[in-house]
Amino acid sequence: MSLRMPEPDAAVIARRGEIAAALRAIVPGEGVIDDPAMLRPYESDGLTAYRQPPMLVVLPETKDQVSAVLRWCHGQGVKVVPRGSGTSLSGGALPLADAVLLGMAKFNQVLAVDYEDRVAVVQPGVTNLAVTRAVEDAGFYYAPDPSSQIACSIGGNVAENSGGVHCLKYGLTTNNVLGVELVMMDGEIVRLGGRALDPAGLDLLGIVVGSEGLLGVVTEVTVRILVKPETARALLIGFASVESAGQCVADVIAAGIIPAGMEMMDRPAIHAAEAFVNVGYPLDVEALLIVELDGPAAECDHLIDEVERIARADGAVSCRISRDEAERLAFWAGRKAAFPAVGRISPDYYCMDGTIPRRRLPEVLQRMEQLSAQHGLGVANVFHAGDGNLHPLILYDANVPGDLERAEAFGADILRLCVEVGGVLTGEHGVGVEKRDLMPAMFSEVDLAHQQRLKCAFDPGLLLNPGKVFPTLHRCAELGRMHVHAGQVAFPELPRF
Ligand SMILES: Cc1cc2nc3c(=O)[nH]c(=O)nc-3n(C[C@H](O)[C@H](O)[C@H](O)COP(=O)(O)OP(=O)(O)OC[C@H]3O[C@@H](n4cnc5c(N)ncnc54)[C@H](O)[C@@H]3O)c2cc1C
Repeated sequence: MSLRMPEPDAAVIARRGEIAAALRAIVPGEGVIDDPAMLRPYESDGLTAYRQPPMLVVLPETKDQVSAVLRWCHGQGVKVVPRGSGTSLSGGALPLADAVLLGMAKFNQVLAVDYEDRVAVVQPGVTNLAVTRAVEDAGFYYAPDPSSQIACSIGGNVAENSGGVHCLKYGLTTNNVLGVELVMMDGEIVRLGGRALDPAGLDLLGIVVGSEGLLGVVTEVTVRILVKPETARALLIGFASVESAGQCVADVIAAGIIPAGMEMMDRPAIHAAEAFVNVGYPLDVEALLIVELDGPAAECDHLIDEVERIARADGAVSCRISRDEAERLAFWAGRKAAFPAVGRISPDYYCMDGTIPRRRLPEVLQRMEQLSAQHGLGVANVFHAGDGNLHPLILYDANVPGDLERAEAFGADILRLCVEVGGVLTGEHGVGVEKRDLMPAMFSEVDLAHQQRLKCAFDPGLLLNPGKVFPTLHRCAELGRMHVHAGQVAFPELPRF
């Protein structure tokens, strides 16, 4: 592991048996795991290059158990790492050697659905897709649709502010979550937001969504559900260059059309996906756009024609329009399977996640090619083009000494490039440990200190998910007194970990 995590507290590790016994009194039966072999499945999340078995795993079933576990850990100075399904690609759920891993998988119930108010109340361990499954017979769905939706949990989605293909039109998790129940590190249970669109007071819900398990543990989520659109049709458009595909994305949005989804794949990704799912993607193009329009049939037909016209004007070399639902799903099948498809052409890949202004797309892709040559590693690009959210998949072989380090250096250069062109370090996968040390590329010391003060307001002992997001360790007391002069903090030499 090339990344430094906070030094494990040997005194806490020495108390492992006592800690397990105390937590068993709160979560009896099989709710506490301390057998080293049984801890192994929890040693990593979707960022598999980083592994660390947790000190203990606790699997509570009720919010009162969550509250009691956190209160006890708070009183004893024991760190806690929340975990949903463990699909985070930024290492957000990476365990620590001296921390309890709090698995929320047993919170798997859809508690209530109110079709009149168009909300569903679910426990955080319910998978993203299960929310749609619970309401689809009544003609409803939950819009944010990460590619990992069969596995990832709503609690994890809230923590990462996850996105997906449909977020261009329908918003990210933050736009579709109306309220949460949150257990604070000291065990207090609070409710933020609710069924109403604009609850009174400060928007604390807005802070909690995307807070990567650093502020509290989510034990209930109220989400917005939407009526399924009358029609959905997709276009599969091939281009001879990524520049013209990028131009088409910009032109469609500029024409006032907001597609339900607008995704781009480059040549390596197209070939990998087609070899995997055989859905008839054109193999003689440099870039492929999948554009979905939804709504009333007449509106959909009109917009399909408009998008095709714009694409042709931008030099599209091929254009297929889905004729039925099966064909629409086939168009998406390759895109949805793009990550595992790339896994077949390279022993390992490292999935990056950065966001850029849409109009800089061609330039960024060109510079990425140069970086690829410079680092000596291939890259396949799959991305939410409409949002400017890139997912370069860096191809490497973990068995080749130095390859992982080169992949990480290449990834860091890509993210710095995103910031340089006016974008941001992350689109939807979060900062976690993966982008933690790159935070100064985007935020000044002053920005970071303010963000850490917010963390301190929720968790003054810094016990919840430490080592994630913030590149520098500060105690909360020190932050309270910190004097910043001319953009410089008092102790610039404080170690990064
Ligand atoms: C193949 C693949 C494709 C993916 N595609 C997408 C995509 O299209 N869009 C996208 O946005 N992401 C995608 N992801 C990333 C990942 O699925 C999301 O970040 C997802 O939201 C993580 O959910 P999880 O339940 O697995 O959370 P985990 O990985 O278990 O945890 C993620 C973070 O959430 C925190 N957390 C989890 N549960 C709680 C809780 N109840 N309370 C407080 N904090 C909690 C953890 O501490 C951690 O910081 C993909 C991942 C994979 C492996």
